[in-house]
Amino acid sequence: MHPVRNIVIVGGGTAGWLTAGVIAAKHLSRSAAGFTVTLVESPNTPIIGVGEGTWPTLRSTLARIGVSETDLFRECDASFKQGAKFARWTTGTADDAYYHPLMLPQGFSQLNLVPHWLAGGDGRSFCDMVCPQGRVCDDGLAPKTITTPEYEALANYAYHLDAGKFAPFLQKHCCEKLGVRHVRADVREVLLKEDGDIRAILTEQAGEIEGDLFVDCTGFRSLLLGEALGVPFKSCSDVLFCDTALAVQIPYDSEISPIASHTISTAQPAGWIWDIGLPTRRGTGHVYSSSHISDDEAERQLRAYIGPAADGLAVRKIGIRSGHRETFWKGNCVAVGLAAGFLEPLESSAIVLIELSAKMIAEQMPVCREVMDVVAARFNATTHYRWGRIIDFLKLHYVLTKREDSDFWRDNVRPETVPDRLQDLLLLWKYQSPWFHDEFDRVEEVFPPASYQYVLYGMDFRTEVEPEALAGDARQADRAVRENITHTERLRASLPRHRELINKIRTHGL
Ligand code: FAD
Repeated sequence: MHPVRNIVIVGGGTAGWLTAGVIAAKHLSRSAAGFTVTLVESPNTPIIGVGEGTWPTLRSTLARIGVSETDLFRECDASFKQGAKFARWTTGTADDAYYHPLMLPQGFSQLNLVPHWLAGGDGRSFCDMVCPQGRVCDDGLAPKTITTPEYEALANYAYHLDAGKFAPFLQKHCCEKLGVRHVRADVREVLLKEDGDIRAILTEQAGEIEGDLFVDCTGFRSLLLGEALGVPFKSCSDVLFCDTALAVQIPYDSEISPIASHTISTAQPAGWIWDIGLPTRRGTGHVYSSSHISDDEAERQLRAYIGPAADGLAVRKIGIRSGHRETFWKGNCVAVGLAAGFLEPLESSAIVLIELSAKMIAEQMPVCREVMDVVAARFNATTHYRWGRIIDFLKLHYVLTKREDSDFWRDNVRPETVPDRLQDLLLLWKYQSPWFHDEFDRVEEVFPPASYQYVLYGMDFRTEVEPEALAGDARQADRAVRENITHTERLRASLPRHRELINKIRTHGL
């Protein structure tokens, strides 16, 4: 038997440090028996330094690795994220906007409110009829109070955070509390065994580092899985067209300016602009298709969106490539983060995928090399499924548009650009809406059926509803809608303003 005891993670961005933390925390008790986690990071190649919108899973991930939520707010300039507001995605007009909140619709596991909303509802948007969070965001409120314990919520939430500060924050915790060994060195060569496994990495500054399992977190370069093991990249640019991002950070007018507690995503003629509020600044960026618009025009649109505050600010251009590796775990090497693939950050799916991958590696850590291929096959099947589902979900935002004002939007609804699975689901959803008991719960889903409901009915998708389908639970539905009204008013009356709570957390702690 060849025991798996020495885990070598290459790359010290969000992917590397989150994976190190999750694996080290899970296997801390094995350190006496020689289980080690080493993270090797180049002192010369910077981390990507973007990626500021997260998913609520990050709360349980951070809690599991023992990070304090108060420290996260203090050291990573974090703010709360209660969902995303999509503006101008459906018709492109000024009043066109809907929320994808993070709370489930009222009574979701017992009752599907979609047919009741489609049958006339109570005149409000789908989101407002079933969930308080759109109103809470409109009011600029936080999702909890200063007395709500760390990581607990009154309204479900994730975070916005400063990506440049998050990796060093995790690094400190992993090295000081979880025993992760940190080596600052450039990998010059990947040394293979005869059977194709990685034996060691040869570094510039620290010589050879051997390992039993290597985790490739080297970013877009995919140094181990892509370059050394030759696993090809599978593009999905025929489905998702955006291939460039322009990012810019904007200071607030004053230190009491309100902070949005949701990501704002505003559609543009050839892409969309993200807008994320941190306590210290806003982070914005234009994600667009360079085959549909020039870089200069994209920058002009970004500056027009920001207004005079953009004057004199430098814009950073980042090339992005939508797609993923054909396989994620080969031999004794598994890729996590950008080394595994990338999809446009429309729904903050990258960091959550890192968390889920790290959790699966940690939980299914093969005891010996002999069983590693079995674990790898399971990991690959699950990860392929997740990437496929995310591609479908992102494309859903484009395919539901009624915009026809540019080639970008017209090209996006061409049937040959829509994956077969999504086409089938769209057909199905014409006659029955996605719901709690849908096929989605195959594995830990990145986007649950509720997310599909918010996007579909936020973008005016119509599912045919037979009157008989409504009769059975009409009273239950009325009750759920009334409960949501009460819940909404209770939260609006009791939650503090977003900046106010962040200031309190930074000063007094949770
Ligand atoms: P990186 O941060 O690139 O880290 C790579 C690491 O590998 C570095 O430490 C580097 O030093 C090391 N390395 C490279 N070569 C070597 C070598 N030869 N030897 C040793 N070490 C080496 N995700 C979200 O979830 N939400 C978002 O809102 C979001 N927005 C995004 C916006 C944009 C424009 C982009 C491009 C991405 C966005 N992402 C988002 C994705 C997110 O940024 C990444 O998934 C996340 O930061 C993880 O990056 P990483 O750690 O894989 O790679």
